[in-house]
Amino acid sequence: MTYRRTFLKGSAATLGASTLPVSAVRASETGADRSEQQVRTDTGSDGMVSTVHPRATEVGADVLRTGGNAIDAAVAAQFALNVVQPHGSGIGGGGFMLVYIAEEDELYSIDNRERAPLGATPEMFLDDAGEPIPFKERITLGEAVGVPGTLRACDVALKRFGTCELSELITPGIELASGECSVTVDEHLASVIEAEREKFNDAARSVFVPDGEPLQAGDELVQPALADTFRQIRADGIGSFYTGEIATATADAVQKHGGSMTVDDLARYNVTIDHPDAGEYGDLTVRTQSLPSSGGLTIAQLLALLEAFDLGQYERRSAETYHRLIEAFHLAYADRGEYMGDKALVDAPWQGLLDAEYVDQRRSLIDPDSAELAGADPGDPWAYQPGDPYRVSTRKRSETDGSKRLKSPFQSDLGQTTHFTTADSEGNLVSWTSTIEQFFGTGIMVPEHGFMLNNELTDFDAKPGGPNQVEPTKRPLSSTSPTIVFKDGEPLMTIGSPGGKTIITTILQVILNVAEFGMSLPDAVAEPRIYADVDPAVVWEGTVPATARRQLGRLGHDIEETATPLGNVQAIAVRDEEYFGVADGRRDGSVIGL
Ligand code: GLU
Repeated sequence: MTYRRTFLKGSAATLGASTLPVSAVRASETGADRSEQQVRTDTGSDGMVSTVHPRATEVGADVLRTGGNAIDAAVAAQFALNVVQPHGSGIGGGGFMLVYIAEEDELYSIDNRERAPLGATPEMFLDDAGEPIPFKERITLGEAVGVPGTLRACDVALKRFGTCELSELITPGIELASGECSVTVDEHLASVIEAEREKFNDAARSVFVPDGEPLQAGDELVQPALADTFRQIRADGIGSFYTGEIATATADAVQKHGGSMTVDDLARYNVTIDHPDAGEYGDLTVRTQSLPSSGGLTIAQLLALLEAFDLGQYERRSAETYHRLIEAFHLAYADRGEYMGDKALVDAPWQGLLDAEYVDQRRSLIDPDSAELAGADPGDPWAYQPGDPYRVSTRKRSETDGSKRLKSPFQSDLGQTTHFTTADSEGNLVSWTSTIEQFFGTGIMVPEHGFMLNNELTDFDAKPGGPNQVEPTKRPLSSTSPTIVFKDGEPLMTIGSPGGKTIITTILQVILNVAEFGMSLPDAVAEPRIYADVDPAVVWEGTVPATARRQLGRLGHDIEETATPLGNVQAIAVRDEEYFGVADGRRDGSVIGL
């Protein structure tokens, strides 16, 4: 422990160092030509914006330059992202936004997760034979659309913490959507359009596949209907979206595709403001979104499981390190699937899951010399939870028909969204993961209104039973983990990533890279990641050494044959009143410091 404390001091001191890592591993060893190892960095003492797209980052930085705070900049960046990455997030989706207010020294979470409409039922993703509708089809259904929360979050965040009007901050989005400021389709967007075009409705097709030809990299992206929707919101406020004409158009589009959402569902929607979960690791406090995101609890449990291993004694890219990570992932995801759901409707044994004795007992299942825990049963955290369950549903998945876990194809676990982060001269921070679930959500664009509808409700279990079954007004279980790490009570770094269930292991590994392996934040983001959940498959990025993979195979792990990029981290380190911003090179991330 003494070692770690000294070590952490050292790591915090070098946290922002912006040296880019150079792979020590030859491409022929790794079997992959692309490198995870490019990150973009910038420094500044007056502010920082890091997003996945240069135009959105510029919009956020302009807001800071003209006197807006971190919350204003984040809201403006969100509207810009809706335009330049219409497949990743927007007003047809939801998310989780952490806000650190320096003057209050308080961390808030604005939960704008989509909710099931009142007409939703636990059986709505089953076919006539009672079997789950195949995932590929499920994600395009009107039933998959959750009541969107993003715009409500923008409004509430500004009223509570901002300094600018929503009408000012949506204006750059209007300029980008209308073509007044030109937006060029980049290779990433072009490839996503090509991959997802089959699911588009006519409205989406007319924008992204005009005259039957998908937009190509270098083409102009002009979205007049989206610009008009933003103008309407600018003129009339968010009421037009939640009760007015846009609400009617949204409900009509969902119903036309078989969903039950009504204007009343939209009118009822509100965000909740909460405080995030906390996990401890050495002298760090890691604060991440609480339920309905499983991120906070699962990251905290993983940190507790792994801390006793003193992973720093091994090489970062060694089989010893990877083996312990993988086995801990198998254990933590088993508990995640069994016990977690929307805390408004389900009682989860959150204290039991983090109880030291329980964690010790779970850790003791990890054999240092053998892979044993793929498909592991969940533990019994209720035995370590003080008091009795107090809410209606405490059923375990294994006590219900949901017991036969659906093994989901990895690609469906991957999800895709966006994470962005901002900081200002007052020390305020925002860490916001925003989503429409899969790229382009359901593929349904609200006709005449230019925005895509999410398919977030596919994050519910398709089979009824268990804590994450569909219920009216419920929020589906998420893995989204916007995070702010504190050291000695002061903010040390913000982190977040898209990637569905892989978000949790991505954030965990960035934290360990800093806290246990002494890396700078850019190196920690660039470092190749691995992923496993309760299923046996171990997913890895291209620069995980082949020697380590072979050793893991010998221990009994089921290592995937080819590499897969995991996550897309935007992060800000804070040191001595200076910011060090990082944007992930796995996509076209961009960071500007002031
Ligand atoms: N639907 C995902 C979740 O909440 C977020 C989207 C993503 O995968 O990035 O876990």
